Amino acid sequence: MSHFLPDITGNARSFSRQNFRCTKCNAKYRRIPLKGECTKCKKGNIILTIAHGSVIKYLEIAKKIVSKYGLSNYLRQRIDLIEQEVKSLFTDEKKSQKSLLEYA
Ligand SMILES: [Zn+2]
Repeated sequence: MSHFLPDITGNARSFSRQNFRCTKCNAKYRRIPLKGECTKCKKGNIILTIAHGSVIKYLEIAKKIVSKYGLSNYLRQRIDLIEQEVKSLFTDEKKSQKSLLEYA
């Protein structure tokens, strides 16, 4: 278990840091560019490099392991934080997709 744990938080962490990327030129973004289009080639769509579902699934597994093995509050808090971060990331994505539709 002791090896597995840092992996969980590490992986969850990297999931939460997934970037957006341009489908045409592969430019990477930390956040969706303001207009929702690639600022480099101005043609590509911006998509997340990882599916929402797999992040959530992973976090669920991590949480189960944490509660099953009665792991430290520290780890639990870390996973909670990551979860919030992931949620806000995907909320932002939805918002900007919605605003794109509004302007279309
Ligand atoms: Zn591009």
